[in-house]
Amino acid sequence: MEDTKKNIFLKNKSWAIILVAQFLLFFILSKIDFAIHFFSDFFEWKKKFHIMLFSGVRISVGDIIYPLAFLFLIYSLIQIIKNRKSSTLKHLLIFLNTTYFIYQFFWGMLYFQPLLIKKISRTEVEISNDNLKQLASKYLKLCQETREKVSEDDNGIFKINDIQKIKEDILKLQNHLPKQINQKKAVPVLSVKSSLYDKFMNKTGILGYYNPFSAEAQYNPNLPATNIPFTLAHEMAHQLGYAREQEASFIAYLCVKNSDNLDLQYSTRLYVLKGLLRALSQDKRNNDFILNLTSQYSEKMKRDRKKEVEFYESNEGIISDFFGITNELFLKSNQQEGRITYSYFINLVLAYEQQ
Ligand SMILES: [Zn+2]
Repeated sequence: MEDTKKNIFLKNKSWAIILVAQFLLFFILSKIDFAIHFFSDFFEWKKKFHIMLFSGVRISVGDIIYPLAFLFLIYSLIQIIKNRKSSTLKHLLIFLNTTYFIYQFFWGMLYFQPLLIKKISRTEVEISNDNLKQLASKYLKLCQETREKVSEDDNGIFKINDIQKIKEDILKLQNHLPKQINQKKAVPVLSVKSSLYDKFMNKTGILGYYNPFSAEAQYNPNLPATNIPFTLAHEMAHQLGYAREQEASFIAYLCVKNSDNLDLQYSTRLYVLKGLLRALSQDKRNNDFILNLTSQYSEKMKRDRKKEVEFYESNEGIISDFFGITNELFLKSNQQEGRITYSYFINLVLAYEQQ
């Protein structure tokens, strides 16, 4: 006999109550320093085993888990609406409870770690147009110099020499981060993989992502070569234990500071330069400066930049707009800045360079 709609919800009310209780619990925990500390320590403790878990599998296991979970959700919802099966609702609620718990325990609470900027400067960082311009000029020079030393393909566009070496170098570099900023330890295990959804990622404008359930780092291998080394360093900073986007980028930047890997250096310096220019572009008075600076890109840099612009323009569309919006909502819901403001990264870089 079919249950009535009301009936199946009443039957499973305890699982629903547990789910709501979890929302409340983690919300409260996020306000307690001791709890935040505990989750950081827990991440540090489980990191090695977790990253090792799927490091031996060549393809991304997380990329297989996600669509299976999605199918399960869709199937369950259809069963519940059409057949009003109480057992399906129960399974769905148990699934949601478990997933939410694992997510918060393994990752979500890391978003509440103390801000990195507090470890760099005790005083408020001054972001003035002058500071930004000075740093932009410095990074333009660094980019020009590094670009001369890297390889290029037949079209004269930057080419990565050895991607495996880049990944290994990042791991080593993570162990040499300044101690007053980072106390997390790198795990000598690589679990960095091409996304199975690379074609889809082209359209979304997402460069890479960390999977908190499988501890794998994924990146889009189709990206322009200039984007890839920095993206790897960024995703691996998530694996190190930095959840906030801007802080993962900052850790990536810090890693590369001590690196002699030219591919990593060029990609990162270019990323910083673009970030500075974007920060400057918020003030119209800087337009002349920006035009002047970008005109000083070396011919080689211009070719690389053109390749990037072509890639993003050819992939622009409804999906990337949609992802721009949802990504922003997601980041906001995690108390982060969305894509429009990126200044926290620039803040961190400025604070560090001003030290
Ligand atoms: Zn990220």
